[in-house]
Order: sequence, then C-alpha cells, then structure tokens
Amino acid sequence: MSRVALVTGGSRGIGAAISVALKAAGYKVAANYAGNEEKAQAFREDSGIPVYKWDVSNYQACAEGIAKVEADLGPIDVLVNNAGITRDAMFHKMTPEQWGEVISTNLTGLFNMTHPLWPGMRDRGFGRVINISSINGQKGQMGQVNYSAAKAGDLGFTKALAQEGAAKGVTVNAICPGYIGTEMVRAVPEKVLNERIIPQIPVGRLGEPEEVARCVVFLASDDAGFITGSTISANGGQFFV
Ligand code: NDP
Repeated sequence: MSRVALVTGGSRGIGAAISVALKAAGYKVAANYAGNEEKAQAFREDSGIPVYKWDVSNYQACAEGIAKVEADLGPIDVLVNNAGITRDAMFHKMTPEQWGEVISTNLTGLFNMTHPLWPGMRDRGFGRVINISSINGQKGQMGQVNYSAAKAGDLGFTKALAQEGAAKGVTVNAICPGYIGTEMVRAVPEKVLNERIIPQIPVGRLGEPEEVARCVVFLASDDAGFITGSTISANGGQFFV
C-alpha cells in the first residue's frame, strides 16, 4: 500500500516540485496552500494532486486540515514542512508585524503541522518529517533577520525532535536550499542575477526545484532510515557547515 505524504506550500515553487516528485515515487500526495487559488487550481489540474487550503501559522486550522487529508487519503506517513514567506527589511526598519508573520509561518508553522501528526507517527512506528530551511538560516542574511532567525530555529527544531523520534522509527531532517530558480528568484533582474548572485555560487548556476525535491524523496525513503537530525545543504557550494 502506498504511503501518504503531505507537503505544505506544495502548490507552487519548490513545494510543487516536491509534491510531483513524491507522487512519481509512488506516494499518495496532498498539497497544502495558503490562498493563491489560481496557482493551486492550475497545479491540481496539471498534476492530479489534491490541494487543501489552510494557514500553517494557525494551529487549529492545521489540526482540521490534517484531519481532512487523513480522512481522504489515510494516515500521513511523510510530512514536508515547506511553506515559507519572506517579509524583508533592514532590522532598523523591521516592524513587529514583519517579524511576527515570518516567525509564525516559517517556525511556528513547523510546530503547528508536526504536533498533531506526531502521536500517529509514533504509534505506527514510522514517520518522516522533512523541514525546508534555508542557507540563510545557516549563515544569516542582511535584510532578513526575521527569516534567518526562523530558518535557524527550524534547524534546532529538527535536531531536538529527531532525538525524540529516533527510537520510534520517526526521522526528522532538514534541507537548506541555496538560490533556487523559483518564480521569486527568476523575477530578480537578469543583470543582478548574472552579476551579483550567480558569481556567488561555485557551480555557476541557480539550483532547480527538482534538485531539492530529489533530496526530499531520498529522506522520505526506507533507505534513509539511519539519517535523522541531519541537514542536507543544497546550495551549489556556496556555503559549507
Ligand atoms: P513560493 O513563494 O514559491 O511558494 C510558497 C508556498 O508556500 C506557496 O504554496 C504558498 O501558498 C505557501 N504558503 C505560504 N505561506 C503559507 C501559510 N501561512 N500557510 C500555508 N501555505 C503557505 O516559495 P519557494 O518555493 O520559493 O520556497 C519554498 C520553501 O523553500 C520556503 O520555506 C522557502 O523559505 C524555502 N527556500 C526557498 C529558496 C529559494 O531560492 N526559492 C531558498 C531557500 C529556502 P500560496 O500559493 O497559496 O500563497
């Protein structure tokens, strides 16, 4: 019987590539999204993957959304915490709202999504939690104190929870992508991309969403059962930890 995977923010960008790769690997996949109906419905039609709308920063909405997915597809074996936002500003101009929105979505979202699923994964003796952090959580990024703090928090979450899940067959890992060629990054003016961003990347190009997705498929697999509390850096050699 195929395992069930839920990808937050799974309707576009890196999350869409993850949803599609997991489906191709044989999982029954559900993709969550926040509110971009047009993208979500287009993704559902193209991929055949069902989409579910809720806000990962709201605990109750996560519990209800998860219950709906489980009623439709069965118990969730693989959770990919991918949903994320940016609200960039230099720190001296950052508002409490910009700080709060990023922490609620990018960090508290992991608690809200993982906590309701955790007892079931422990009881069944199998689970995979895969958190999409960022290179900017590893090295910090000016203009992104909120985002860097949340993404670094995701790594602490991963390492601590991995210790709790290990004896129960539940692994918890993180992936830290560098610059990935999503719509957001490709919208950067070509001159900035070619003169400022790509020269920082030793492999000489942006990463592809599918390259992150393949890391997820591996971490979700039985083959990765001995890997927990780990971070895969997928950044083209830009930063080593
Ligand atoms: P996109 O902006 O392309 O997509 C974000 C997805 O997350 C969308 O599906 C969006 O839904 C969903 N989302 C946003 N907020 C919420 C919320 N509160 N509740 C539920 N879903 C939400 O992002 P990327 O593909 O670029 O990034 C994906 C992840 O990878 C993020 O965590 C990001 O921080 C991380 N990352 C990205 C990098 C890059 O270069 N792109 C580099 C390093 C890390 P909707 O469409 O409805 O808005």
